[in-house]
Amino acid sequence: MERSQYTIKEAVEFEGVGIHTGQKGRVRLLPAAPNEGICFRGKQETIPALAEYVVCTARSTTLGKGEETIATVEHLMAALWGMGVDNAVVEFEGPEVPILDGSSWPFAQGILKAGLQEQDELAEYLEISEPCFVAHGESLVLAMPADITSYEGAVSYACDDVGVQRFRYSVYDDFSVHVAPARTFGFWEEVEQLLARGLGLGGDLSNALIFGCPKEKRVSDAQADSLALKAGWTSPSGIRLRFYDEAVRHKVLDLIGDVALLGHPLNASILAVRAGHSLHVEFVRKLRHGVSYVRNE
Ligand SMILES: [Zn+2]
Repeated sequence: MERSQYTIKEAVEFEGVGIHTGQKGRVRLLPAAPNEGICFRGKQETIPALAEYVVCTARSTTLGKGEETIATVEHLMAALWGMGVDNAVVEFEGPEVPILDGSSWPFAQGILKAGLQEQDELAEYLEISEPCFVAHGESLVLAMPADITSYEGAVSYACDDVGVQRFRYSVYDDFSVHVAPARTFGFWEEVEQLLARGLGLGGDLSNALIFGCPKEKRVSDAQADSLALKAGWTSPSGIRLRFYDEAVRHKVLDLIGDVALLGHPLNASILAVRAGHSLHVEFVRKLRHGVSYVRNE
C-alpha cells in the first residue's frame, strides 16, 4: 500500500475530566512535520507515543518520561490512527487525557473539523513475515501477515449484558462510524472496588457504560438516550447502547489505540482475545523488536 503521510490542518482542543483521576485536563492537537509521528508535549518533557514510553497499564495506558506522565492516551491514539493522522503534537495539561463521552467519537469529530493536511513524504508501513503473538492464561493477542490491516476482538463475560461478543474491523470500514462511538465500559460490582483503589473518580455513568448497574443508580432515560445517540440498542438489563456489541467494539478501539504505539501503520491481521492494555503493550513491544520496515519508495 502506498499513500502520503497526513497531519491536521489546524489546532483542535479538548477539555474535561479524566475518568481515573477525576481531574480536569486539556489536550491540544497541533500539526507536525512529516516523520515526526505522534508525541505528547507536557510542561517539561516531550513524550513520543511509542510502546517503550508506557509506564503503566492499570485500567488505561499511561505514557511517561522523566517526572512527567499522561494517562488514558488510548482513545485519543485510536482516533488519530483511525482518522488517518500520522503526525501530530499533543500538548497536554493535567495528568490524564479527558474521557469526554468515554469513546473516540468526540476526538474523531474534532479531527474531522480540523481537517487533514497531505504531506510530501510517503507513509512507512511495518510488515511481519510470520505470526507473532503474546499470551497469558486465557488471553491472547496475535498478528498474522496480511495485505489488509484488520483488528478483531473477542470477549466473554459472565454478565448477560455482554456475554460472548466478537467484532472485526478492517481499514476499508469507516472508523468514525463503526468503532469511534463505542464507549468504555465496566461492571457494577467493580465500581466500588475501583473507587476504593482511587480509580474511576471521574466516571459518573455519563462517560462509561456500567453493565449490571441497578436502575436507580443509572442516569435518566432521557440522558441515556442522548448519550446513546438514539441508536436504539438496549442490553438485556436495559442499558442503552450505541451498538448491540458496543463492549467488544470498545475493546477493538482500545486495541487500535494501543497498537498505534508501534509508531507506524502495520500490515497485519490482528486478533485480541480477552486482552487488555498490558497484553496489548507487551505485544507492541515484541512487534517493535521483530518487524521489518517497508519504505514505500
Ligand atoms: Zn478504552
